[in-house]
Amino acid sequence: MFNKIIILGPQGSGKGTQAEFLAAKLNLPNISTGSIFRSEVDAKTPLGLAIAERMKNGILVDDEVINKLMAERLARPDCAHGFVLDGYPRTLLQAEFLETVAAPDCVLEINISDETAKKRLGGRLTCPQCGKIYHPEYKPARVAGQCDVCAVALITRADDEPEAIQRRLKRYHEEVAALLKYYEAKGILIKIDGTPAIPVVKEEIFNKLGL
Ligand code: AMP
Repeated sequence: MFNKIIILGPQGSGKGTQAEFLAAKLNLPNISTGSIFRSEVDAKTPLGLAIAERMKNGILVDDEVINKLMAERLARPDCAHGFVLDGYPRTLLQAEFLETVAAPDCVLEINISDETAKKRLGGRLTCPQCGKIYHPEYKPARVAGQCDVCAVALITRADDEPEAIQRRLKRYHEEVAALLKYYEAKGILIKIDGTPAIPVVKEEIFNKLGL
């Protein structure tokens, strides 16, 4: 059974949602670096203040900073039996560092075309409080425009605006190429088609992982 799982995929591939499903099924913590960083920024912690500008511009936080943060996070007791990682590693240096902390045993790459990504991301809504993501068509909130958990009004994140989406997709492809090669060579890369509806993708993942 896999228990140290990495999820890769472009924005709009549904990787956050699938990470949640997997973590719940395997009873493992779902660790999203984007969410961790966003709460640091919102809480104006020293780390948050230091990285706010980079995050706003979609520039990666320094490898040393994220590696240290992840080493601490993965050493917590809730990771004793494994984890689902969303957003880490993002660079080869991070991947190599992770091997020394807790080597992953499964890397899922959820693939969608850029066209599909653009269609899905346009219209994406985020809860400003908990970071949960919705889409009126693909993942509607129970009450339109309102977070199911926090009941606050949903917003469009600055990086979900059209120009930002194009930039992020380009950056994603540049970033992920080296990681895919790295994990493919290790023989632990599993490719998933992220085009179908969320429950179908979930089933494909569970099947391929023998769950
Ligand atoms: P995300 O929501 O995963 O797109 O992450 C939002 C932002 O957080 C990124 O644009 C980076 O600034 C930062 N970030 C998240 N994960 C990492 C990582 N593994 N390495 C460096 N920066 C990261």
